[in-house]
This record gives sequence, structure tokens and C-alpha cells, in this order.
Amino acid sequence: MTSGQPSIDAPAPISRPTLSDGSLFIGGARQDALSGRRREVIDPSTGKQIGTVADGDAQDIDVAVRAARTAFDDGPWRRTPPRERARVLMRAAELLRQRTDELIALESVDAGKPVSLCRIIDVANTISHFEYYGGLAQGLGGATRQTAFPSMAYTVPEPIGVIGAITPFNFPMILSTSKIAPALAAGNTMVHKPAEDTPLTALVIAEVLSEAGLPDGVLNVVTGGVEAGDAVVRHPGVDKIAFTGSTLVGRKIASTAGDSLKPVTLELGGKSAQIIFEDADLDIAIGKAIEAFVFNTGQFCMGGTRLLVARPLFDAVSKAVAGAAGGVPLGDPFDPATVIGPIAGARHLEKIERYVELARSEPGAEILTGGHRIDLDGGYYYAPTVVVGMANDSRLVQEEVFGPVLTIQPFDTEDEAVALANSTRYGLAAGLHTRDLNRAHRVASRLQAGIVWVNTWGLMDPAVPFGGVKQSGYGREYGPEGLAEYLDTKSVVIAM
Ligand code: NAD
Repeated sequence: MTSGQPSIDAPAPISRPTLSDGSLFIGGARQDALSGRRREVIDPSTGKQIGTVADGDAQDIDVAVRAARTAFDDGPWRRTPPRERARVLMRAAELLRQRTDELIALESVDAGKPVSLCRIIDVANTISHFEYYGGLAQGLGGATRQTAFPSMAYTVPEPIGVIGAITPFNFPMILSTSKIAPALAAGNTMVHKPAEDTPLTALVIAEVLSEAGLPDGVLNVVTGGVEAGDAVVRHPGVDKIAFTGSTLVGRKIASTAGDSLKPVTLELGGKSAQIIFEDADLDIAIGKAIEAFVFNTGQFCMGGTRLLVARPLFDAVSKAVAGAAGGVPLGDPFDPATVIGPIAGARHLEKIERYVELARSEPGAEILTGGHRIDLDGGYYYAPTVVVGMANDSRLVQEEVFGPVLTIQPFDTEDEAVALANSTRYGLAAGLHTRDLNRAHRVASRLQAGIVWVNTWGLMDPAVPFGGVKQSGYGREYGPEGLAEYLDTKSVVIAM
């Protein structure tokens, strides 16, 4: 290894950052909220305040939308050749790569994410998103079409306009980027409202894009809460909403946006099932079953929180999963050995507790491991929890807990496994473990989900689209499908 280069084997330790107070990013400049209000930033691993950000509201959203509107209507970005837009995204990817350690530290202190995972998941995926959509922008173009009359017809992909992007707390950087990268590649301008609990990295992304050559006003970031989010949805200057968050809020947003026929993409909640068939490779299946519900401390929309196990394996698998889950390293997110960090906020921790209390009062339910907070440094820690014996219609089985809580249920036939997997109102992800190739394809085709994993869980790549069916939403992120969400198609027909 050449000196001065980061080592892949042993990255430098990441320490807790010292925060400077965050401002809104509007029109290419930092500014305070017009109200002067500020919002606390809490470190979930200690419960202590570590800084503040501007608390934007409807007035700030109005200023940001005007900046984005002017940048779209009169600015150069939509007219910039896609290959030049690609260069800006690629430069941003490189600048983000140079700031990897800073991004890890910010995301970890803001969301409680273990630094080791933050490096290989959050930062790596963010960078590769900019590269991937930079690549797709290079190939952006329309098609010629044959018609039945004497004419020449062609299509032109056009940006939609001003995109309002609203995101949740669990993967702040990735979820900001999975909207920003395709929307900008397509030539749109944006107002982004990140989650109130985790606003820090969205501001760095905006700053980096500006440094990479993005014209002022193309990407505006307003940190704030529900009022700011609602103002984005209602603003007549916004042409489309890209929302990731809970099903409850997604429904409200779709309904509000419907008044003005504003198009919406909705990436919502999930309650995903993972099926272990009798012929599965059990070492892999048990490992993935644990990973699927503890990854990101269970705050993963596609967490595998319902495990369905072939009855002959049920007792052994339940015991193995519960035994090993209790041993997954949990603690300070800045310790490189940590796999499970704290829950991102006090209100999220309380919600998990309420759901596990429901299990305690359910006849026949048994908590095999966990079921309690962990008292550590004042942080919001919750032990990985495995519950068996719940009825399929119980709330713990049917509703999204958004914490490291797994239910395990037995099944007798393939039909029953599929029926149980499809039995919630959600349809975000699903998975199965089998060595039978025919069964893999057959069951994958029957599972109601936007993505199905076979003999693995949670593998995501910017090239592979995902999204919901049923109450998990509509529209797709990632892949060329994710770019198409930010484009309109214009047809031009010329008489000959
Ligand atoms: P949430 O719905 O409470 O909030 C998400 C965002 O919406 C936040 O920025 C919030 O300020 C804003 N918001 C809240 N009310 C609003 C309103 N009335 N109008 C406009 N904006 C409003 O979600 P959360 O608790 O932050 O995140 C967890 C949820 O997100 C889970 O349900 C999870 O499954 C889901 N999620 C889905 C995906 C996916 O890709 N499908 C990815 C990550 C998280």
C-alpha cells in the first residue's frame, strides 16, 4: 500500500465530529430560517444535544421553491447537455469520496449508525448512486417511431420541473441521494426536506454538488419538520413529489398532492417475510435471517421482520436465530466492532417498546431473546428481540415496528408459506431460501413485493430497482426505472 492512501483492510478510526450549526442551503448559499428558529440535533448514542440546525418552515420552503423555479425556468441546468450534467454528478461522487470519513462521522453521530456499516453501506452507496446516474445521463435520449401516415416521429425525454423530495431518518444520505442523483441527471431542479431527526448529511451533499459545478438554485435543502414537508407538497411551484417515509404520511401526501394533480412517487413502509424451506442451506439462511432484522438496528424499510420456517425446522431455527441474535455486537456506533447501534430517536424507541408490550399480553407468545432496552451511556439502545407463538393477525406480525424485532412462524406447505408471506397490507420486499431452482422462480413469482431475494437478503445496488406494491407505495427508485420517474416524454410528429 502506498503511503498516504487509505487502507481497505484497516480504515482510519472515525471520531465523533464537532458540529458547526447547520443552515438552510438555498440558491447556492447558506442562510438561517426566516423565523430564526433552530432545531436540536441529538446524538442517539448518548441522548445528548450536539448541535442545532435551522428549523425551516413554510416561508423558507416558499423561498426555496422560488429559487428552484427560477433555476428551472430561466437557468442553464435543464438545457445543459446530459453529458455535461453527468460530469457534474461524477465530480460530486469524487468529492464525496474525498470526504468519506467526514460523512461517516456525521451520519453516525446523527442517526446512530455503526461507523463500519456506514462506510460500506451508506457512504459507498451514496457515491455509487452519483456515478451510476451520471452514467445513465450520458446515454439519455429518445427514440424514433414508425407511424402509419407520412411523418417522422420521435420522442424526447424532458425533465419534469421542480421536484419536492421528502425523506425519512433511517438512511439519510442514501435516501437523499436516491432522489437527488436521478432528478438532477434528468435536468430537474429541487427542494429537498430531509428528516427532522437526521438533517446533517443532506447539507453536505448540497455543498458538494455546488462545488462540483451545479448552478445555484438547482438543489435547495430546507431542514425542518412536518410543517416544512407539508409546505413542499402544497406549493404550487412544485411539479412533482418524491416521498420516502411511513405509509400513514404517504397517504396524506398523495391525498394533498391529488388536489392539484401533482404526481407523486411513494416509497413507504414494509413488513417483509423471509421463507426458509426445508431444503435451504441452513447456515446461510440463519445468518441472513439475523442480518435481515438487526441490520441498521431494524430501522430498514425492507427489514426481514417476519421469518417463516418449514415446520420440521421450526424449533431448531428459532433457537439458533434467537441464540445468535443476542450475541451480535451492540454498542457505541463509533466502535469499529459495533454492528447494532442505538435506535435513531427517543420516539422511535418508545414505539418499539409499545409493540413488544403487545407481544407480552398475547396468549401463547414467547419472547425467546431481548424484549427490553439496554442501558448504555444514556443512548436509545434496544436488544434484538425474537418472538414466537404470535397469531398471524396480531399487530406485531402485521404492523411495521421499525426496530430489531423478529417474529417467527411455522408453515406446512409452499402454498401456506406464500399465503403467510403475502398476508400483510405491505409489499416492499420478500425472500426465500431453497436449493430448488424451480421453487425459487415459482415462489418469487407468487410473492407480492417490489423485490425478492433468493438465498440472501438486503442486497441492493443502484442498478437494481426497488419499490412497493400494495400499501408500500408506488413508483420505483434505483435503476433506469428510477431515472424515468423524473422524466416526461414528449413526442414530436413532423408531417412529410
Ligand atoms: P415519516 O413518514 O414520519 O416522515 C418522513 C418524512 O416526511 C420526514 O421528513 C417528515 O418530516 C415528513 N413529513 C411528516 N409528515 C408530513 C406531512 N404531513 N407532509 C409532508 N411531509 C411530512 O417517516 P419516518 O418515521 O421518518 O421514517 C420511517 C418510515 O419510512 C418507515 O415507515 C419506513 O418503512 C419508511 N421508509 C421507506 C423506505 C422505502 O424505500 N420504501 C425507505 C426508508 C424508510
